[in-house]
Amino acid sequence: MKVIVINCGSSSIKYQLHDVSLDQVLAKGIVARIGEEGSSLRHQAGDTVIEKDVAASSHGEAFEVIRRALLDPEGGVMSGVSEISAVGHRVVHGGETFVDSVLITDDVVAKLEKCIPLAPLHNPANVIGIREARRILPDVPHVAVFDTAFHQTLPPKAYLYAVPYELYETHRVRRYGFHGMSYRYVSKRAAGLLEKPLNKVKMIICHLGNGVSMAALDGGKSVDTSMGLTPLEGLIMGTRSGDVDPGVIFFLHRELGLSVDRIEDLLNRESGLLGISGASNDMRDVIRKASEGNQRCRLALEGFAYRAKKFVGAYAAALGGLDALVFTAGIGENSPLVRQMICENLECMGISLDETKNEEAVGVEKLISTPTSRVSILVVPTDEERVIVMDTLAVAGLAG
Ligand code: ADP
Repeated sequence: MKVIVINCGSSSIKYQLHDVSLDQVLAKGIVARIGEEGSSLRHQAGDTVIEKDVAASSHGEAFEVIRRALLDPEGGVMSGVSEISAVGHRVVHGGETFVDSVLITDDVVAKLEKCIPLAPLHNPANVIGIREARRILPDVPHVAVFDTAFHQTLPPKAYLYAVPYELYETHRVRRYGFHGMSYRYVSKRAAGLLEKPLNKVKMIICHLGNGVSMAALDGGKSVDTSMGLTPLEGLIMGTRSGDVDPGVIFFLHRELGLSVDRIEDLLNRESGLLGISGASNDMRDVIRKASEGNQRCRLALEGFAYRAKKFVGAYAAALGGLDALVFTAGIGENSPLVRQMICENLECMGISLDETKNEEAVGVEKLISTPTSRVSILVVPTDEERVIVMDTLAVAGLAG
C-alpha cells in the first residue's frame, strides 16, 4: 500500500511516497520556486537523483510535475497514481479547532480557511495543496496532520499572552506552538531509548532545524513551547528572529518608515542566523566561517546557543525537574558543537555531556550524557513524515 505525504508551501511543494507494507520511502522530492523564475524539481528514488528546471507557474502545474516524476521511466516508482491509497497533508496551523489529525471533507477545508488569519504565511498554501491533490486523487482519503495539534495540551498559563483577554476570546490570539509531529515522534523514541514509560518522563526537546523550537513535555504531553501564535516566536532560527521586544516593530515602523508587510518579511526572512551573520542562514556555513575567524558568524552561533540554553533553564523550571534533554532536526542531530555550547556549564542542573559520545553522535540515535549525569542527554533523528503516514493510515481506517 502506498501513501503520499504532501507539504505544500507558498512557493514549494515537498512530497514523499511511502510503501507502507515495505516500510520504505520509495521516492521524495521538491518542486521549488513555484510561480517564480527558474522553477525546479529535485526528485530522489533510491540512488537515482533527478534535478532539472520545470514549468511550474502554479501549484496545479507543480503537482503535474510531481505526478510525471513519480511515473517517469527514469526515477519513477509507480505505473499509475491509482496505486496511491491515501494522501497525508502537513498543515501548519489548526488553531483551536483541530486537536488531532482529521479526514479532509469540504467542511474541514472550510474550517481550515477560517484558520488562515492565524497563519497567513502558511495556511493558504496548505489549503491550495489540499484542493489540488483532492482534484488529482478524488477517490482516496486525504488526511490533514497539524503542526499545532500536539500542543493543544498546553495549560492557559502557558498559552495566554498578557494582552487584553478579549483578544483571546474573540480572535483566538494565543500561543499555539509548532513542530508537533516532530515532538510526538521524538518523545516516543526517546522514552524507548531510556527504557522508561513516556508518561513517567519529564523531557525537554530541542528541535533545531531551519525552523527552531523547543518544547517541555511532562509525561509525553506538551506543557510549554517556544513558538507562539506564529512560528516566528522563540529561538533564533535560520532566517527568523525568534523573540524580539515588540517595541522593535514600532521603532522600525515609526523611525524607519517600514510598512507592516516589510517588517514581517524582515523578521521572517532576513533575521536569525542570516540577520546576525550577514553571511548565511545555514548553520554549517555559520560554523565554518566562525571557525575561520568571521566575527559576525561567531556572534550568530553564540547567540543561537545562548538563547537555547536559556530555554533549557526556563523549561526545567516549568517542569519542576528534568529527566531528559533531547536534540533533534538538522542542527540538533548533526552538530556536536552546537549541542556542546548549549549544554556547557549546565552541570549545576544535573546536565553533563560526554564529549566523546557527543562527537560520535551524528545523525543517529544515541545517549550522549556522562554515566553520572542526572539528566539523560539524547540525540534522536526526527521523522515527521512517518508520523503523517501513520496518522493518515489510522484516520483513513487503513491501519492494519
Ligand atoms: P528544516 O527545518 O528545513 O527541515 P533541517 O531539519 O533539515 O531543516 O535543518 C537544517 C539545518 O541543519 C541547517 O541550518 C543546516 O545547516 C543544519 N545542519 C545540517 N547538517 C549539519 C551539520 N553537520 N552541522 C551543523 N548544522 C547542520
